[in-house]
Amino acid sequence: MTLHPQPAPPRSAVTPGACLLHADFHPMTSECWGVTLDWYVAHDHLADTQARAQYQAAVERQMLDRHVRAPDRG
Ligand SMILES: [Zn+2]
Repeated sequence: MTLHPQPAPPRSAVTPGACLLHADFHPMTSECWGVTLDWYVAHDHLADTQARAQYQAAVERQMLDRHVRAPDRG
């Protein structure tokens, strides 16, 4: 039995990412990337891996913040 290799699925233009703007993991828009890039520019004194870790932490903090404060809003 011969298995034909499946073609790799086309890589989507929108990759889910950690979004600091919306405090969410979702497909990033150019607006989201703008905020992400701004953060990296503001933290460009950090090493690459350090910057990634701190960015993730910043997004997670933002998420917690929103979840804690959300019920009071509206
Ligand atoms: Zn976003």
